[in-house]
Amino acid sequence: MKHYILLMLSLGFFSGILRGEKSIVLRKVFFHQGAPSDKKESQSSHRIELGKLVFYFEYEPHIESSVVAKGNRTLQRLFLPNVSVSNELKENLQQIHKTTKELSYTMQLNAKEHPRKGLEITFIYPTDKVGVKYNHFQSIGLQKGLAFQFYNKEVIHRIKQLGKSIITTASLASPHVFIDCGHGGTDCGAVAHSIREKDISLEVGLRIADQLRTCGIMVGLSRETDVTVALDQRTSLANKQEADLFVSIHANATTSKVHSGIETYFFNPTLLKSGDCFVLNSFEQEQVGNVLHEKSSKSNRLALCVHDALLKKVRSQYAVKDRRIKSAVSQVLFGTQMPSILVEVGFVTHPQEAKLLSQKSYQQQIAYGIASGILHYLGYI
Ligand SMILES: [Zn+2]
Repeated sequence: MKHYILLMLSLGFFSGILRGEKSIVLRKVFFHQGAPSDKKESQSSHRIELGKLVFYFEYEPHIESSVVAKGNRTLQRLFLPNVSVSNELKENLQQIHKTTKELSYTMQLNAKEHPRKGLEITFIYPTDKVGVKYNHFQSIGLQKGLAFQFYNKEVIHRIKQLGKSIITTASLASPHVFIDCGHGGTDCGAVAHSIREKDISLEVGLRIADQLRTCGIMVGLSRETDVTVALDQRTSLANKQEADLFVSIHANATTSKVHSGIETYFFNPTLLKSGDCFVLNSFEQEQVGNVLHEKSSKSNRLALCVHDALLKKVRSQYAVKDRRIKSAVSQVLFGTQMPSILVEVGFVTHPQEAKLLSQKSYQQQIAYGIASGILHYLGYI
């Protein structure tokens, strides 16, 4: 009898695979909120993006989509068959639904078992004000990313009338820089040689903020103490503050002790594989593409300024390896709406570099280097 049941189960399992019903585990979900769109016209946001919903799956899911226009609202239903969601992530999906109740567009995210197993996503938005586009991407660890981006159509059309740059930075009268001290609280980041990444990122981040403030620059921080902050909370905070630049501070780690040095990351849109667009015409899509391109090229320039200034500073005293500027779909770089970079200030797994990173004087040098790169980008020096 037992054998019979096992045979039935395994037959069921294999026929499920043959029919393409293999369960696809949802690994993570993020909602990066944009700047508020309900401001008065005179002070309204120039941010073209309203927000981003990002999923990470074990395998790339199939997407079934139907769009229904109801009066001046669009109701868009998507179904991702065979996606399974843990109880912890079900709570995250609920939280995202609650958050969007306050916004101009809402989303309901339900993990379904009946009549078919899968993830059901419903977006409801005003047809003339909001457009949606989705992209696939591959992330580190070979996870399959799927991102839905929500765009403010009013801003897209206003920008054409204004005829000016949407992502304004450099030569700003009163720049606002956001410093993201990586990890924190229950998330220690990399740990080696009795050093925790979260402590280094906080020390360096606070020192950068001090440096910039003495130059009269407004600074926002993702954390100022040892607290847990989710990745999408960090990006949403920077977006809501409408910061002009975003700089995330991290320390590196590998399984080998030989790797050392500094590397800087920025987000490059060529890492995305374009999916469908909904209620965005070709002009609107072109504008969206321009904004992504502009963010990327400004992020690249910011990366060059900061990476060069940082290396110049630390190399005046120490032999630090240049691991160069790279591009990646890091969640904080993807979720922000302003030029953004992520700096890996050194390896905690390298015995000598770990020792340096733990010294206050070296942390100060790194902070000086990064701050002077930011000041150079902004045209202060
Ligand atoms: Zn890190």
